[in-house]
Amino acid sequence: MSTNNSNTGHSNTAPSPKVAEFIARQHKMLIGSEWTEAVSGSTLGVINPATGEEIARTPSGDAQDIDRAVSAARKAFEDSEWSRMRPAQRERLLWRLADLMEQNIEELAEIESIDNGKTAIVAQHVDITLAIDFLRYMAGWATKIEGRSVDISIPYMPDAVLHGYTRREPVGVVGAIIAWNFPLLLAVWKLGPALATGCTFVIKPAQETPLSILRLGELIQEAGYPAGVVNIVTGDGAVAGDALAKHPGVNKLTFTGSTEVGKLIGKAAMNNMTRVTLELGGKSPAIVLPDADITKAAAGVATGIFFNSGQVCCAGSRLYVHKKIFDNTVADIASIAEGMTLGHGLDPTVDLGPLVSQKQLDRVCGYIDDGLSQGASIVTGGGRAGDSGYFVKPTILADVDHNARVVQEEIFGPVLVAIPFEDTDEVIRLANDSPYGLGASIWSNNLSEVHRMIPKIQSGSVWVNCHTALDPALPFGGYKQSGLGREMGAEAIEHYTEVKTVLMSV
Ligand code: NAP
Ligand code: MG
Repeated sequence: MSTNNSNTGHSNTAPSPKVAEFIARQHKMLIGSEWTEAVSGSTLGVINPATGEEIARTPSGDAQDIDRAVSAARKAFEDSEWSRMRPAQRERLLWRLADLMEQNIEELAEIESIDNGKTAIVAQHVDITLAIDFLRYMAGWATKIEGRSVDISIPYMPDAVLHGYTRREPVGVVGAIIAWNFPLLLAVWKLGPALATGCTFVIKPAQETPLSILRLGELIQEAGYPAGVVNIVTGDGAVAGDALAKHPGVNKLTFTGSTEVGKLIGKAAMNNMTRVTLELGGKSPAIVLPDADITKAAAGVATGIFFNSGQVCCAGSRLYVHKKIFDNTVADIASIAEGMTLGHGLDPTVDLGPLVSQKQLDRVCGYIDDGLSQGASIVTGGGRAGDSGYFVKPTILADVDHNARVVQEEIFGPVLVAIPFEDTDEVIRLANDSPYGLGASIWSNNLSEVHRMIPKIQSGSVWVNCHTALDPALPFGGYKQSGLGREMGAEAIEHYTEVKTVLMSV
C-alpha cells in the first residue's frame, strides 16, 4: 500500500520491564484498604487493541462488590481521619498524589498506551500531564471552598438579631462511571473535585481500560489517603455500573460515556434523588469562514478529528467550509491524513494508534459503509488498515446529505464529514442541526463575525482558531443531548458540594 496509513507493523513495541511486570500481575480491585477479588471470583479479559491479544484479566465486580465499596466509602466519609481532615491537609495530599503521578509518568503512559491503544507519547504529554495539572488545580480549591454571609430581613421577626450564612459541604459518597477513551484523565476529572471537597469515591472504570486506574489506586495508597476514601471496582457496565448507579448509598453520580447509557444513569439517579452530572456524546462542528488561513485551519481541523483516532467526545467530526475555499481546505486535510503513520502505541514513530476494540472497529467501519450507501464519496481513507489490531485509516467523506447517519450520529472514530456552506446564517443553522452540543470551533480572524456567531452556537464550548483545547480552570460539558452539568473549573466544586443554609437568632 502506498500511504503511511498502511504501516501497522509492530516495531519497538516491547513495554519496559516494570510495566510488563505490572500488566502480568493477577489484578485485583481496591475496596477499603484491601486489594481484593470479586466476591463471585469471576474475571474479565483486557485486550491490547494493537494486537487483539488478551494481556491481563481483572475482577468482574457485581452488586456485592459495589455494596462493599460503597460501605467502605460511607465509613470513610462519616467517621475517619479523612472526615476530620483540614482543607490544607487535603490540598497537600492532592499535591502528593500529583507528584507521585509525575514521578511515574512514563510508566502510566505506557500502561495507558498498551491498554487503550493510543500512543505513549500522547498518553504522557496529553492525558497524564493534563491529569497531573488538574489535580494541582483542584488542590488549590480545597482551601477556597466558601459560603456566603447574608443580611436578613424576615418581616415577622422584626426584633430578632439574625445571622444568616451558607456553607458548602461535601456531597458525600461519589459514584463515578467512565468511558475508555482517556481512562486516567476521565477518572481524575472526577477524583480531583471529590478529593478537594472532602467526598469519598467509588469508581467503575470501563472494562476495556481498567489498568491505569488500578495503578493509580496504588499511588493513592502511597500518597497516604485513608482506607475507603478511594475505591475501584472493575467490571461490566451492565452489572457493576448498573449496581453503582442504583445504589441508594451513593450521594452523587458522575458519568462519562454514551448518551444512551447516560440516560439510564440519569433515571437511576432520579429514583434515589442522587445528584448527577453527565458528560455524554458529541458531534461537534468545525466551521471554516472564508477569510481563514487555510493551512492553519486544515492542520487544526485534522488534529481536531484525528487526534486519539477520533475517539474524543468533542472531536470536530462535522466540517463546514465556505464554498470559496472548500476544495483547497479539504485537500489540505486529506494530505495531512494521508501522512499519518498508524501503528502500535509504543512505537515512537507512530501518529495514530488503533481503535480501542473490535466492537469500535466494526462500529466505525459500519458507519463508513453506511455513509457510502447513502451517497457519500470518499476523499481519503475509507476503512480498516492492516489485518491485525483495530486500525482505521483517517477518513474524510464528502457529498453527504445533512440527514445522513454519518452527519447526525456520533461515530467516535477518525471519520470527518466535509460540507460546504455559502453564508453565516446557513452554517449556524447546520451547526445547530444536531441532537448534540458539546463543542464547536470557528476558524477565522474576522472577529466581529466570530463574536456575532458565538452566542448563536448551541454548545458547551466554542473554540476560535483551535479545537479541543482544555484547561483545568475552564468548565467543560454539554448542551442538549451532550450532558448535564460541567467538569473542571469552579463549576466542578459546585457539583461536588451541597449548600447548607444556616440562620441563627442571636
Ligand atoms: P458507554 O457504553 O456509555 O460506557 C461508558 C461507561 O458506562 C463504561 O464504564 C460502561 O461499562 C458503563 N456502562 C455501560 N452500560 C451501563 C449501564 N447499563 N449502567 C451503568 N454503567 C454502564 O460508552 P462507550 O461506548 O464505552 O464510550 C464512548 C462514548 O462516551 C461516546 O459516546 C463518547 O462521546 C462518550 N464520551 C463522552 C465524554 C465527555 O466528556 N462528554 C468523554 C468521553 C467519552 P463497560 O464498558 O465496562 O461495560
Ligand atoms: Mg484494552
